[in-house]
Amino acid sequence: MTRRADKLRARREAQALLHHFKVKTAPVPVERIAKSLGVRVDYAPLDEELSGLAYIRGGIAIVGINTLHAPNRQRFTLAHELAHIRLHWSELEHAVHVDRGSLRRDGLAAAGVDATEIEANAFAAELLMPEDLLVAALEGRSVDLEDDQAVSVLTKRFKVSEAAMRYRLSTLGESM
Ligand SMILES: [Zn+2]
Repeated sequence: MTRRADKLRARREAQALLHHFKVKTAPVPVERIAKSLGVRVDYAPLDEELSGLAYIRGGIAIVGINTLHAPNRQRFTLAHELAHIRLHWSELEHAVHVDRGSLRRDGLAAAGVDATEIEANAFAAELLMPEDLLVAALEGRSVDLEDDQAVSVLTKRFKVSEAAMRYRLSTLGESM
């Protein structure tokens, strides 16, 4: 598959979960969704450079979240790890997946290289900032990514970091 098809597959999976859990308002309850899917979510202080990890033990999916990072960033990390569980299950049975700054302050530096990371970030962005909810929040306007005030209002509504929101706004329209 092409990368575009991979991203589309990831977004469709996120959309299916939103539909299944009847999510109609932001912020998306990502922790409730993960736990409803039987995922064990462990919160702990990890090395500063680590955002989170995911693995499967005895058929149980386990996610670790770095509590040293800001709460909104932890939400993105959880959504990102949930993507690996939904999309890359078999790989997690063989090895612990460790994420080093899946969404860094300087943008998506780690995201551009690895195909599974691209998929996981596309899934996480769609799950936390669904196209329809974002379009509704914009009320027909388009957002200037340089407009800090407008981006800030959206980050509060969706409980995501500014980096995540800027990334999502830049991909708006690709989901369809
Ligand atoms: Zn990852």
